[in-house]
Amino acid sequence: MSNWQAEAERLDAADPLAGWRGEFLLDPAVAYLDGNSLGALPKATLARVEQVVRGEWGEGLIGSWNDAGWIDLPQKLGAKIAALVGARPHEVVCADSVSVNLFKLISAALAMRPGRKVVLSEPGNFPTDLYMIEGLEKQGLAERRLVDRDAIEAALGDDVALLLLTHVHYKSGAMFDMARLTRAAHDAGALVLWDLSHSAGAVPVELDAAGADFAVGCGYKYLNGGPGAPAFAYVAERHLAALKQPLSGWMGHKAPFEFRDDYEPAPGIEKLLCGTPSIIAMSALEVGVDLMSAIGIEALVGKSRQLSEFTRAAMAEVVPELPCISPADPERRGSQLSFRHEHAYELCQALIARKVIGDFRAPDVLRLGFAPAYVRFADCWRAVSELRDILDSEEWRKPEYAERGAVT
Ligand SMILES: *Cc1c(COP(=O)(O)O)cnc(C)c1O
Repeated sequence: MSNWQAEAERLDAADPLAGWRGEFLLDPAVAYLDGNSLGALPKATLARVEQVVRGEWGEGLIGSWNDAGWIDLPQKLGAKIAALVGARPHEVVCADSVSVNLFKLISAALAMRPGRKVVLSEPGNFPTDLYMIEGLEKQGLAERRLVDRDAIEAALGDDVALLLLTHVHYKSGAMFDMARLTRAAHDAGALVLWDLSHSAGAVPVELDAAGADFAVGCGYKYLNGGPGAPAFAYVAERHLAALKQPLSGWMGHKAPFEFRDDYEPAPGIEKLLCGTPSIIAMSALEVGVDLMSAIGIEALVGKSRQLSEFTRAAMAEVVPELPCISPADPERRGSQLSFRHEHAYELCQALIARKVIGDFRAPDVLRLGFAPAYVRFADCWRAVSELRDILDSEEWRKPEYAERGAVT
């Protein structure tokens, strides 16, 4: 047995979170290192969805909007997510997708900075963030400016309305210093919107303490809400009263059931709602969020760092030909490691054939994610040792590993 394997066994035996894996429906033979793209299924979600569909919808019918509390679910779940990202309960709401919430909050921020049109971001940010700015630019409402991350602070000129950054970069895993960049943006008179899609449930986030203005985040990654789970949006309390968002749907109205002709926004975070929330999907997300809350964010962060440190050290020694492009300091990266290889796609497919599921990000990145609630140290070691074997045997050259599906 290799030293690394023995070390993985020792770490798993000592892992205080080891028991939580049993709460997820996961094949023991699978090393699932892609929870940063689609979280695993909590077993309790099956029963919860059944209860919502059969009991609340099937039997309770329309009465469940009141009786089962459906109408308050976006705020109730928002309050639970708030606790995971350092926000107060009334500052977060669950709604729509990240993309749609970006549209609402970029627009709202631009309206709060009349005379400034620039939305500053970095090239290589997650595409939807950049595309949403572009859409507003095409309407003449924004001017998109992209500068490399080292140059962001210098680029915060007096025409910048909003700094929009993804806290943990989806490809490299590099994590911004949220408090520092927020301060720099405020010093320049700009607002800040953080995309927490790769942060919530995996890294420490202190939105209020950092002085953040706005944030959005994803429900189907580390929060385990299921494919296409609703997203969340954060607005700092000091902005809630004045905030105006353009998707003025009836659910964000101050009195939706008075059916008035004219829109008047709700005073609080509910003003970010647009249409009727997807109750089945939101109920599934609630199970995932409850699980993360029960484990506790500090314990999750601690294990995430242990998992990625173990993997980084093992990869550096055992598979040195794949350079790690994620920051070496665990406090400066998210819950993932990314490795570069010309044939990263084929390597990833060969790993999947061996039941080690990571993912590929174009053009040449193999990404391993460490969802601390259910990833075992043994899974990390398997990724490293199988990769060694796949490279030595040149198994990755099999033609079927070069075929690409619509989703990579
Ligand atoms: C996953 C992810 C999204 C997802 O956006 P949707 O509109 O919910 O599909 C957005 N931003 C980042 C940084 C992501 O990683």
